[in-house]
Amino acid sequence: MHRGGAHYNRSRIFYKRVHRENHEFAAHRDLLPYASGSSTNQIQRPSMDFCTNCGRNVVSEVPAGDNRVRNVCKHCGKIHYENPRIVAGCVVAYQNSILLCKRAIEPRSGYWTVPAGFMENGETLPDAAARETREEAMADVDIGVLSTIVDVIQARQVHIFFEGSIAEPVFGPGDETLETRLFGPEDIPWSDIAFPSVRMALEHHLSIRKSGFQGIRLDKAPEIKVI
Ligand SMILES: [Zn+2]
Repeated sequence: MHRGGAHYNRSRIFYKRVHRENHEFAAHRDLLPYASGSSTNQIQRPSMDFCTNCGRNVVSEVPAGDNRVRNVCKHCGKIHYENPRIVAGCVVAYQNSILLCKRAIEPRSGYWTVPAGFMENGETLPDAAARETREEAMADVDIGVLSTIVDVIQARQVHIFFEGSIAEPVFGPGDETLETRLFGPEDIPWSDIAFPSVRMALEHHLSIRKSGFQGIRLDKAPEIKVI
């Protein structure tokens, strides 16, 4: 996941590129997409040693006029604000089936997900969801309604999912996908879904199929205990 401010580490969600700042995923954090912090304190004030502007040490303090602890550089004055990042994805339907991708990379390598990833600068949310679908599933998706929004507070992310569809069963594994496969609603591998937000999006997709679109699901991912 990339960071804000002066750092544009362009790894995508669910993690495509290697360069990350403070984003090594230890095994016990496998359930945390892109997570870099493990405690409430870290969520509020991510650990940082050096100023991204001048390279000198930062201190943690509440800047004047602010009400939160930030990483502040006393040398050049830069305040390193940290805000949630947006992950965009979509549940891709083909007729009665759903297209899932088996992840080829950590975290949660070997588990199934819908196409999703970090939104890039210069693109819209639907563009981001469609791009991720092209990259991860090699499919040309038609983006439909916005269906599910999940606050992943622990990982400092907001995951936003659309309904999507493909006209033809044309897809395949992208660089960081082991396998792409269509699943019938009864065959979704619930015990092998990569992230809680993906599960929520799939659940809502099925409810939309059943009852029609009744509104956006706005939910919060459960906090995962880090041992
Ligand atoms: Zn500085």
